[in-house]
Amino acid sequence: MLIDSYDRVVDYLRISVTERCNFRCQYCMPQKPFSWVPQENLLSFEELFEFVKVAIDEGVNKVRITGGEPLLRNDLDIFIKMIYDYKPTIDLSMTTNGYLLKDMAQKLKDTGLKRINVSIDSLKPEVAQHIAQKDVLKEVLEGVDEAQRVGLKVKVNMVPMRGVNDNEIFDVLEYAKQRGMSIRFIEYMENAYAAASLKGLKANEVLEMLATRYNFVDEGFEKASPSRYYKMEDGYRFGIIEPYGDDFCKECNRIRLTAEGYLIPCLYFDEAMSIADAVKKGDIKTAALVLKEVVKNKPEKNRWGSQEEDEISQRAFYETGG
Ligand code: SAM
Ligand code: SF4
Repeated sequence: MLIDSYDRVVDYLRISVTERCNFRCQYCMPQKPFSWVPQENLLSFEELFEFVKVAIDEGVNKVRITGGEPLLRNDLDIFIKMIYDYKPTIDLSMTTNGYLLKDMAQKLKDTGLKRINVSIDSLKPEVAQHIAQKDVLKEVLEGVDEAQRVGLKVKVNMVPMRGVNDNEIFDVLEYAKQRGMSIRFIEYMENAYAAASLKGLKANEVLEMLATRYNFVDEGFEKASPSRYYKMEDGYRFGIIEPYGDDFCKECNRIRLTAEGYLIPCLYFDEAMSIADAVKKGDIKTAALVLKEVVKNKPEKNRWGSQEEDEISQRAFYETGG
């Protein structure tokens, strides 16, 4: 079992399989990066899988595939199948912008993927286009329909932004609710790459808005979830992810692996260690040691609450996978 210095069990690995993306979301990658990671620096799926096996053997029981946009990487279904075949009981999920989902959903389901989170920030084509800087809504919604049709469990992620999509909080919630999908509102997190003018809504502002229309009770955090859940009178539950909040890190159970093989102990922390050399050499012992070291170095809390202007995270969301 992997236990960090604050007695938290680490059993959740998020893998960013590519930092590339077909969207240019204002809060994540508004500009195409100056350079992409060279193709030869990316770990192959076989190499990534060598590490996944080590992580599973050490106690990881939840793996999420993310990016960049994970569906841009060829043969993703084969990678998913490798993980599934190694441990069929693993909680195997993916976070995607949904644009390529329609054609991939069945394959992903067949190879062992259980759940997906799809980012839907607006249901208005022109607003979705403004946020992603591409006309995306039709494909995304068709992707969600297909994912549900093939039996994947779908959750919606929305980042509410002032003057951009804050007037759509009810609409996106109702869209999810009517389709039996849970929704989580994610507070916008500042980072060096996001568009400078963006202002996110804080959790309390989202809650105040929702309280004008619904009655709900605070159910607190689900075990190890970064999201606080609220239950409406009819039983529907929505979540709010508040990384600036006091309780956000208390139950953190996750580490992140980038497509180049950097193992990151905390989303905000820039410290990371590489497992690339070890897996390329097939040196599983060293990969396991790096994993244990990264878990040991997991900080107690992220720095979002205390950051100075010049301390803003330089690590891009599209590298770490969010
Ligand atoms: N491309 C996929 C997607 O958009 O769902 C997966 C990668 S994306 C980096 C993962 C999650 O991070 C998305 O739900 C996205 O909304 C969220 N995200 C990206 N930048 C963010 C930011 N600055 N603040 C809050 N959430 C952010
Ligand atoms: Fe791409 Fe996802 Fe970042 Fe949007 S949030 S730019 S879809 S990686």
